[in-house]
Amino acid sequence: MNFDWTDQERSLRTRVAEVFDESARQELDLMEDAQPSELKEIVSKYLKPLAGTGYLELAVGLPDRGGMTALIAAQELPARISGSLFLSVEVTARIFAGLLSVPDAPEQIREILEAVSKGEIVGAAAVTEPALPDSAAVMTTAAWPDGDHYLVSGRKDFVTNGPIADYTAVVGLVEENPAVFVVEAGSDGLLVGPRIRTLGYNGLAVSSLELNECRVPRSRVLGPFTDGAVLDGIRLVQDLILAVASVGLMQRTTDAAKAYSRSHERGGKPVAAHQEIRFKLAEMLTLTHAAQLLTHRAGWMYAEAEREAETLVRCAKVFAAEASERTANLAMQILAGQGYVWGNVVERGYREAKYAALAGTTSEIARMSIADDLLTRYR
Ligand SMILES: Cc1cc2nc3c(=O)[nH]c(=O)nc-3n(C[C@H](O)[C@H](O)[C@H](O)COP(=O)(O)OP(=O)(O)OC[C@H]3O[C@@H](n4cnc5c(N)ncnc54)[C@H](O)[C@@H]3O)c2cc1C
Repeated sequence: MNFDWTDQERSLRTRVAEVFDESARQELDLMEDAQPSELKEIVSKYLKPLAGTGYLELAVGLPDRGGMTALIAAQELPARISGSLFLSVEVTARIFAGLLSVPDAPEQIREILEAVSKGEIVGAAAVTEPALPDSAAVMTTAAWPDGDHYLVSGRKDFVTNGPIADYTAVVGLVEENPAVFVVEAGSDGLLVGPRIRTLGYNGLAVSSLELNECRVPRSRVLGPFTDGAVLDGIRLVQDLILAVASVGLMQRTTDAAKAYSRSHERGGKPVAAHQEIRFKLAEMLTLTHAAQLLTHRAGWMYAEAEREAETLVRCAKVFAAEASERTANLAMQILAGQGYVWGNVVERGYREAKYAALAGTTSEIARMSIADDLLTRYR
């Protein structure tokens, strides 16, 4: 058994690490208070050098899953430094681009994918919808043909990058079947809602979207698909991204708690000298390594298309999400009053930690799917 990165993975990590020097760390801290126009500038500024490292090109959707271990090797670096930048970049490069990466995509879609890999555009993916009263339907966004266009109508909730995206991949139904409509910013019939203020990840621009007979050329439509394979594949990638984001959060909060415990003195000695503090640090490191290892194993299984990959991805996501909440809680306890002050790494991490358990496949749905698999497949 070999837990090491390959030479290629190590080389990618080195190139990505060079993008995030000390000045980048300081700038990305400012992202948390930035307006959408500034956020677009910041995200675009990092997409360009990331493109030069090969980070944005790593295709991990159907049919090419093989790049996942290299991707996770590289993702860990931005995830540790800035959760907001990490999620914004991943939505563009993996979720938006992943929805578009289907075999035999039209020329216009391939051009958009090339622009993503060059770091030239920001993308968003609009799947989630508000629940409608008296409706059991999970998706009501619908489209119908109109000459060489489709007309798309519906509402989407919580679109990461919504206010700053050049293109949004909107998932809707054509009759009963799902399709992906690539909607350009500023299109007639597309209304981007006001930015939604969220508990954490305040450096993300999130909004709702409304589409009122929005005209999308057929050359920018994928599907309709006869099954949900494209969407299912993207959900798995999204859950791995959230697991990596959780590990990054655990590393940031552990780093901050460790540094503080060494420098902050009470009773004439650093608080790190107290067993109560040391036990907390030990638990934080144990949880971080456990979450990281499980995420790596899930990513490896995904890359190898192992039959248990889906279950392992859900296990990793549930564990990492919940372990990050526990770790942020312990870090806050170590920093105590200073941790509770607005805007420091630990306070921010405490707010951010709730996200992964409720985003993507929620912990409840993930547990249901893990249990289903356990009862039918495992002995
Ligand atoms: C900051 C932020 C950014 C986001 N970005 C995006 C984005 O870019 N694109 C996008 O499409 N979406 C995005 N989302 C939406 C996110 O993916 C959803 O919030 C998530 O999928 C959960 O869906 P929901 O909020 O509709 O919860 P619901 O599905 O309404 O669930 C509510 C609760 O009920 C539980 N539940 C639901 N169904 C069942 C069931 N059958 N059995 C048992 N329990 C159940 C859930 O686990 C949860 O606890 C974002 C959300 C946030 C907060």
